Amino acid sequence: MARELAVIHPDAHCELDHQTPLQLTVATILSAQTTDVRVNEVSPKLFARYPTAADYAAADRGELEELLRPTGFFRNKADALIKLGQQLVERYDGDVPGQMAELRTLPGVGRKTANVILGNAFGVPGLTVDTHFARLVRRWRWTEQTDPIKIEQAVGELLPKRDWTMFSHRVIFHGRRVCHARKPACGACSLARWCPAYGSGPTDRDTAVMLLKGPRAAELAALTDAEVG
Ligand code: SF4
Repeated sequence: MARELAVIHPDAHCELDHQTPLQLTVATILSAQTTDVRVNEVSPKLFARYPTAADYAAADRGELEELLRPTGFFRNKADALIKLGQQLVERYDGDVPGQMAELRTLPGVGRKTANVILGNAFGVPGLTVDTHFARLVRRWRWTEQTDPIKIEQAVGELLPKRDWTMFSHRVIFHGRRVCHARKPACGACSLARWCPAYGSGPTDRDTAVMLLKGPRAAELAALTDAEVG
Protein backbone atom coordinates (compact mmCIF):
# COMPACT_ATOMS: atom_id res chain seq x y z
CA MET A 1 0.00 0.00 0.00
CA ALA A 2 2.83 2.39 0.81
CA ARG A 3 4.43 1.65 -2.57
CA GLU A 4 1.13 2.15 -4.37
CA LEU A 5 0.61 5.48 -2.60
CA ALA A 6 3.88 6.68 -4.14
CA VAL A 7 2.49 5.80 -7.58
CA ILE A 8 -0.90 7.40 -6.89
CA HIS A 9 0.46 10.65 -5.45
CA PRO A 10 3.81 11.46 -7.08
CA ASP A 11 3.07 15.14 -6.43
CA ALA A 12 2.68 14.72 -2.65
CA HIS A 13 4.39 17.45 -0.67
CA CYS A 14 3.89 19.74 2.29
CA GLU A 15 0.97 21.90 1.20
CA LEU A 16 1.88 24.81 3.46
CA ASP A 17 3.82 27.35 1.37
CA HIS A 18 7.17 28.20 2.96
CA GLN A 19 10.80 28.88 2.20
CA THR A 20 12.45 28.88 5.62
CA PRO A 21 12.10 26.89 8.87
CA LEU A 22 10.58 29.98 10.52
CA GLN A 23 7.96 30.36 7.79
CA LEU A 24 7.07 26.68 8.04
CA THR A 25 6.83 26.88 11.84
CA VAL A 26 4.53 29.90 11.60
CA ALA A 27 2.39 28.32 8.86
CA THR A 28 2.06 25.07 10.80
CA ILE A 29 0.93 26.92 13.94
CA LEU A 30 -1.63 28.82 11.85
CA SER A 31 -2.92 25.62 10.22
CA ALA A 32 -4.64 24.54 13.48
CA GLN A 33 -8.42 24.41 12.97
CA THR A 34 -8.23 25.66 9.38
CA THR A 35 -7.13 24.56 5.92
CA ASP A 36 -3.69 24.84 4.34
CA VAL A 37 -5.32 26.81 1.52
CA ARG A 38 -6.53 29.44 3.97
CA VAL A 39 -3.08 29.67 5.59
CA ASN A 40 -1.44 30.05 2.17
CA GLU A 41 -3.75 32.98 1.43
CA VAL A 42 -2.58 34.78 4.54
CA SER A 43 1.09 33.81 4.60
CA PRO A 44 2.58 35.97 1.77
CA LYS A 45 1.54 39.18 3.50
CA LEU A 46 2.49 37.82 6.92
CA PHE A 47 5.93 36.61 5.83
CA ALA A 48 6.65 39.94 4.13
CA ARG A 49 5.59 41.95 7.20
CA TYR A 50 7.43 39.71 9.71
CA PRO A 51 10.54 38.27 8.05
CA THR A 52 12.39 37.34 11.27
CA ALA A 53 11.66 35.93 14.72
CA ALA A 54 12.48 39.37 16.17
CA ASP A 55 9.70 40.89 14.03
CA TYR A 56 7.13 38.54 15.59
CA ALA A 57 8.57 39.25 19.05
CA ALA A 58 8.05 42.97 18.54
CA ALA A 59 4.77 42.73 16.63
CA ASP A 60 1.87 45.04 17.34
CA ARG A 61 -0.73 42.58 18.62
CA GLY A 62 -3.72 44.31 17.01
CA GLU A 63 -2.08 44.48 13.61
CA LEU A 64 -0.97 40.85 13.78
CA GLU A 65 -4.45 39.71 14.86
CA GLU A 66 -6.01 41.49 11.88
CA LEU A 67 -3.67 39.70 9.49
CA LEU A 68 -4.43 36.34 11.10
CA ARG A 69 -8.19 36.82 11.37
CA PRO A 70 -9.07 34.71 8.26
CA THR A 71 -7.39 31.66 9.81
CA GLY A 72 -9.69 31.59 12.87
CA PHE A 73 -8.68 31.60 16.56
CA PHE A 74 -6.64 34.62 15.57
CA ARG A 75 -6.14 35.95 19.11
CA ASN A 76 -4.62 32.68 20.29
CA LYS A 77 -2.55 32.40 17.14
CA ALA A 78 -1.25 35.98 17.40
CA ASP A 79 -0.32 35.28 21.01
CA ALA A 80 1.49 32.07 20.02
CA LEU A 81 3.45 33.82 17.24
CA ILE A 82 4.55 36.70 19.47
CA LYS A 83 5.68 34.27 22.18
CA LEU A 84 7.33 32.06 19.56
CA GLY A 85 9.29 35.07 18.27
CA GLN A 86 10.32 36.04 21.81
CA GLN A 87 11.50 32.55 22.72
CA LEU A 88 13.39 32.07 19.46
CA VAL A 89 15.20 35.37 20.01
CA GLU A 90 15.92 34.72 23.69
CA ARG A 91 16.98 31.10 23.44
CA TYR A 92 18.05 30.34 19.88
CA ASP A 93 19.41 33.59 18.42
CA GLY A 94 16.27 33.90 16.33
CA ASP A 95 16.67 30.52 14.60
CA VAL A 96 14.25 27.61 14.71
CA PRO A 97 15.99 24.64 16.40
CA GLY A 98 16.20 21.35 14.50
CA GLN A 99 15.58 18.92 17.39
CA MET A 100 12.29 17.48 18.58
CA ALA A 101 12.95 18.13 22.28
CA GLU A 102 13.76 21.80 21.69
CA LEU A 103 10.93 22.36 19.23
CA ARG A 104 8.45 20.93 21.71
CA THR A 105 9.31 23.63 24.25
CA LEU A 106 8.22 26.39 21.85
CA PRO A 107 4.78 27.97 22.19
CA GLY A 108 2.20 26.53 19.79
CA VAL A 109 4.48 23.64 18.77
CA GLY A 110 3.11 20.19 19.62
CA ARG A 111 4.50 16.89 18.47
CA LYS A 112 2.64 16.97 15.14
CA THR A 113 3.90 20.46 14.34
CA ALA A 114 7.43 19.49 15.37
CA ASN A 115 7.35 16.49 13.02
CA VAL A 116 6.19 18.69 10.14
CA ILE A 117 9.04 21.13 10.80
CA LEU A 118 11.68 18.41 11.23
CA GLY A 119 10.58 16.51 8.15
CA ASN A 120 10.16 19.43 5.79
CA ALA A 121 12.64 22.05 6.97
CA PHE A 122 15.44 19.90 8.38
CA GLY A 123 15.25 16.61 6.48
CA VAL A 124 14.75 14.62 9.70
CA PRO A 125 12.24 11.80 9.01
CA GLY A 126 8.93 12.28 10.81
CA LEU A 127 5.40 10.88 10.67
CA THR A 128 2.74 13.59 10.73
CA VAL A 129 -0.33 12.15 12.41
CA ASP A 130 -3.07 14.61 11.50
CA THR A 131 -6.77 13.86 11.19
CA HIS A 132 -6.38 12.35 7.70
CA PHE A 133 -3.42 10.20 8.65
CA ALA A 134 -5.16 8.87 11.77
CA ARG A 135 -8.36 8.07 9.85
CA LEU A 136 -6.64 6.27 6.98
CA VAL A 137 -4.22 4.06 8.90
CA ARG A 138 -7.11 2.99 11.13
CA ARG A 139 -9.26 2.23 8.10
CA TRP A 140 -6.42 0.13 6.76
CA ARG A 141 -6.22 -1.61 10.17
CA TRP A 142 -2.56 -0.80 10.45
CA THR A 143 -3.37 0.10 14.04
CA GLU A 144 -6.34 0.26 16.38
CA GLN A 145 -4.80 3.12 18.36
CA THR A 146 -6.56 6.49 18.59
CA ASP A 147 -3.87 8.48 20.39
CA PRO A 148 -1.67 10.28 17.80
CA ILE A 149 1.58 9.41 19.56
CA LYS A 150 0.65 5.71 19.71
CA ILE A 151 -0.42 5.81 16.06
CA GLU A 152 2.93 7.37 15.19
CA GLN A 153 4.78 4.62 17.07
CA ALA A 154 2.70 1.82 15.54
CA VAL A 155 3.09 3.04 11.95
CA GLY A 156 6.74 3.89 12.53
CA GLU A 157 7.40 0.21 13.22
CA LEU A 158 5.93 -0.76 9.85
CA LEU A 159 7.94 1.53 7.60
CA PRO A 160 11.61 2.39 7.04
CA LYS A 161 12.44 5.63 8.78
CA ARG A 162 13.74 7.27 5.61
CA ASP A 163 10.22 7.03 4.13
CA TRP A 164 8.32 8.59 7.02
CA THR A 165 8.08 12.17 5.77
CA MET A 166 7.04 11.38 2.20
CA PHE A 167 4.72 8.62 3.38
CA SER A 168 2.95 11.16 5.60
CA HIS A 169 2.45 13.52 2.67
CA ARG A 170 1.08 10.72 0.50
CA VAL A 171 -1.36 9.53 3.15
CA ILE A 172 -2.57 13.09 3.75
CA PHE A 173 -2.93 13.60 -0.03
CA HIS A 174 -4.95 10.39 -0.22
CA GLY A 175 -7.13 11.54 2.67
CA ARG A 176 -7.79 14.90 1.02
CA ARG A 177 -8.32 13.69 -2.52
CA VAL A 178 -9.68 10.12 -2.35
CA CYS A 179 -10.35 8.63 1.08
CA HIS A 180 -12.63 11.31 2.50
CA ALA A 181 -13.98 11.11 6.04
CA ARG A 182 -17.64 10.78 5.15
CA LYS A 183 -17.69 9.49 1.58
CA PRO A 184 -14.44 7.83 0.53
CA ALA A 185 -14.17 7.21 -3.22
CA CYS A 186 -13.70 3.45 -2.84
CA GLY A 187 -14.81 2.66 -6.42
CA ALA A 188 -12.02 4.86 -7.80
CA CYS A 189 -9.28 4.05 -5.29
CA SER A 190 -6.09 2.28 -6.30
CA LEU A 191 -5.70 0.86 -2.79
CA ALA A 192 -9.07 -0.92 -2.95
CA ARG A 193 -7.66 -4.41 -3.49
CA TRP A 194 -5.77 -4.31 -0.18
CA CYS A 195 -8.09 -2.12 1.86
CA PRO A 196 -10.15 -3.79 4.60
CA ALA A 197 -12.44 -0.72 4.62
CA TYR A 198 -13.28 -1.00 0.92
CA GLY A 199 -17.01 -0.33 0.72
CA SER A 200 -17.01 2.40 3.39
CA GLY A 201 -17.86 4.72 0.49
CA PRO A 202 -19.49 4.20 -2.90
CA THR A 203 -18.00 1.29 -4.87
CA ASP A 204 -19.85 2.23 -8.03
CA ARG A 205 -17.13 3.63 -10.25
CA ASP A 206 -19.04 6.55 -11.78
CA THR A 207 -20.22 7.75 -8.37
CA ALA A 208 -16.77 7.32 -6.86
CA VAL A 209 -15.00 9.21 -9.67
CA MET A 210 -17.20 12.22 -8.92
CA LEU A 211 -15.86 12.19 -5.35
CA LEU A 212 -12.20 12.50 -6.36
CA LYS A 213 -10.76 15.91 -5.53
CA GLY A 214 -7.73 18.02 -6.40
CA PRO A 215 -5.93 19.06 -9.58
CA ARG A 216 -5.11 15.46 -10.52
CA ALA A 217 -8.61 14.01 -10.13
CA ALA A 218 -8.71 12.88 -13.78
CA GLU A 219 -5.33 11.14 -13.44
CA LEU A 220 -6.45 9.45 -10.23
CA ALA A 221 -9.52 8.13 -12.06
CA ALA A 222 -7.37 6.97 -15.00
CA LEU A 223 -5.15 4.96 -12.65
CA THR A 224 -8.07 2.80 -11.61
CA ASP A 225 -9.31 2.66 -15.24
CA ALA A 226 -6.08 0.93 -16.14
CA GLU A 227 -6.60 -1.58 -13.35
CA VAL A 228 -10.13 -2.40 -14.47
CA GLY A 229 -8.88 -2.74 -18.06
S1 SF4 B 1 -10.77 1.62 -0.63
FE1 SF4 B 1 -12.08 3.23 0.27
S2 SF4 B 1 -11.65 3.18 2.45
FE2 SF4 B 1 -10.00 2.05 1.42
S3 SF4 B 1 -8.37 3.58 1.10
FE3 SF4 B 1 -9.60 3.53 -0.74
S4 SF4 B 1 -11.14 5.13 -0.47
FE4 SF4 B 1 -10.26 4.69 1.54
